[in-house]
Amino acid sequence: PSETGRVLSIQSHTVQGYVGNKSAVFPLQLLGYDVDPINSVQFSNHTGYPTFKGQILNGQQLWELVEGLEANDLLFYTHLLTGYIGSVSFLNTVLEVVSKLRSINPNLTYVCDPVMGDEGKLYVPPELVSVYREKVVPVASMLTPNQFEAEQLTGFRIVSEEDGREACNILHAGGPSKFEAEQLTGFRIVSEEDGREACNILHAGGPSKVVITSINIDGNLLLIGSHQKEKGQSPVQFKILIHKIPAYFTGTGDLMTALLLGWSNKYADNLEKAAELAVSSLQALLLRTLTDYQRAGYDPQSSSLEIRLIQSQDDIRNPEVKYKAERY
Ligand code: ADP
Ligand code: PLP
Ligand code: ZN
Repeated sequence: PSETGRVLSIQSHTVQGYVGNKSAVFPLQLLGYDVDPINSVQFSNHTGYPTFKGQILNGQQLWELVEGLEANDLLFYTHLLTGYIGSVSFLNTVLEVVSKLRSINPNLTYVCDPVMGDEGKLYVPPELVSVYREKVVPVASMLTPNQFEAEQLTGFRIVSEEDGREACNILHAGGPSKFEAEQLTGFRIVSEEDGREACNILHAGGPSKVVITSINIDGNLLLIGSHQKEKGQSPVQFKILIHKIPAYFTGTGDLMTALLLGWSNKYADNLEKAAELAVSSLQALLLRTLTDYQRAGYDPQSSSLEIRLIQSQDDIRNPEVKYKAERY
């Protein structure tokens, strides 16, 4: 399939190595997309190294770029892609960007990787969680949380496949209801404003596509996908079992979301197929990364590995599907 598009990608940039836009732009281009990157930060290297240096874009500076594009009639996008966002003010501006882009293209697909943390640890300011939960989830078209992020968004621990599917259901419905959110945050509805906000949240839809990119179960990884084709209908759900490689990679979440955007737009009605292609590309790349490090005599468990993105271009353009989805 040749379906393509024009993607505005708001993510991190690193001078060296592949995370954020550095790991999303190239694969999307390989899949035939025009990609316009906005670098939310420019760092020397990713934050997993002992130190990093660089600059952070603020919400106002993001808005200036959008205004520049708008002044020249350059704001037509088929997709918005966002990843790591470091502050509430930047995330609020991203929400304004969503509205602005939808005012120009009502069919804009917003693909959101709600980057908040991993393995039980939050690495964004805690105030960001409720903004994602209450404002971002309702306007996203596709959401790609990892296990920890899905837990933050829904408010419950995921310890089984069943829990993972239930988390997807809650997200399709627009996140937890205000009542549930109250229980979670201790926030009470005490004003008219709060009440109206509660209605807005209840009216608002949630993403029709949700992919929990990995759940740790019995030492392996399970991807759970969920596609609600019509509002209110029960979603089509599936899983893909992924053998866990004993190494820690960075930039894989960002790459995964980019691949899911690319393939799910080409197979708009078949999220299973899109996920099979994305996982197959990614696993081929991770295997190449691992063997390259091993060949160089490097212990892959000693620190986080930089992915072999450029070397894996054939696996991105033309993945051999070795990972099959199993429908629930
Ligand atoms: P994030 O990096 O955002 O926390 P995940 O941990 O879910 O996201 O990783 C994204 C994808 O990368 C997973 O779906 C999986 O396919 C792949 N992946 C990441 N780490 C490994 C690993 N150690 N072994 C195998 N696959 C991995
Ligand atoms: N952005 C920056 C600046 C990072 O340093 C990292 C990880 O170190 C990421 C994004 C996200 O990486 P991942 O895709 O592994 O979640
Ligand atoms: Zn991530």
